Amino acid sequence: MNKLLHALRGMDIPPTTVMEVCGTHTNAVARFGLRQLLPPGMRLISGPGCPVCVTDGTDLAAALFLAHMPGVAVYSFGDMLRVPAAGDSLLRARELGADVRIATSPMDALEAALSETDKEIVWLGVGFETTAPMTAALLLRAREAGVGNLSVLCAHKTMPAALRSLLRDNQRVDALLCPGHVAAITGAEDFRFVPEELRMPAVVAGFEPEEIALALLQIARMRQRGQVELANCYPAAVSAEGNPAAKALLTAVFEPVTARWRGLGEIAGSGLGLRREFAGFDARRRFDLPEFPPGEDAAGCRCADLLRGEAEPRQCPLFGRGCTPDRPAGPCMVSAEGACAAVYRYGGN
Ligand code: SF4
Repeated sequence: MNKLLHALRGMDIPPTTVMEVCGTHTNAVARFGLRQLLPPGMRLISGPGCPVCVTDGTDLAAALFLAHMPGVAVYSFGDMLRVPAAGDSLLRARELGADVRIATSPMDALEAALSETDKEIVWLGVGFETTAPMTAALLLRAREAGVGNLSVLCAHKTMPAALRSLLRDNQRVDALLCPGHVAAITGAEDFRFVPEELRMPAVVAGFEPEEIALALLQIARMRQRGQVELANCYPAAVSAEGNPAAKALLTAVFEPVTARWRGLGEIAGSGLGLRREFAGFDARRRFDLPEFPPGEDAAGCRCADLLRGEAEPRQCPLFGRGCTPDRPAGPCMVSAEGACAAVYRYGGN
């Protein structure tokens, strides 16, 4: 590690802003103080990599609507409960009597559907290519078991279209630290469009400090040499083609749809919708949900700017004052993968 950092620190490179788009990287970078160890000229910023943070207010409003419906139980991963949504949250709804339950796996929702046949069970599906296969497996099992009281409020998203939308013609970001977990599913080749279309170096990185340092060193070398390439610095977990079983699950259940991202807006092809064969499991159809307005963020909240890489946590006037992990005013302070929560917990910027 020391050798890597020494080599990195000693690099003489043109000004380089690297964006990381993975919540686990966001956390690891802050936790290991990697920003303080970068060479002069290199800057590392967070992008739209935290699945909780990029979930839009419209999807949260739909989840809240369902949670308040009698006879409905909403299952979600725990972090989603604390995300503020226009003065409300799933946690607050639960405190007021709504049936909102924390799941450790989507299969918890299936178990509930099988044992509580008088209830409508809804799984709130959020996250990227990493968690979407679990939702796909849930629906395949539910269909096989003939379950009729389970549905999915699908807010899953995929990275490539969002990155194209965010980074095309941008003047801020010079290189991309690609998300190791997503790449493990989709394959490193899924990020080849970054050098080929967006004309910037892209390096797939693992999550240990030395793995991140190695990836940054690779980026620094490319910048020094003027190369624009894709490199895989996480070959232990990421192959060129990805995980065929997980990709088969995604293809069997989902199709690309337009999705709305917090901070990025609507992006065609950046979401995962249920295929027609699974339409009966679509909570939006089953409950005939309208399109909900996204609701207002807390006054001063800069989560949207953060997710576009246009601000850093300490530039938000609420950071550490009106917004802390105990009382989050925005989603980036909720999850351990959020940029504000990471900086609040470990320091740095
Ligand atoms: Fe949003 Fe809170 Fe971060 Fe401000 S400090 S950007 S309100 S999460």
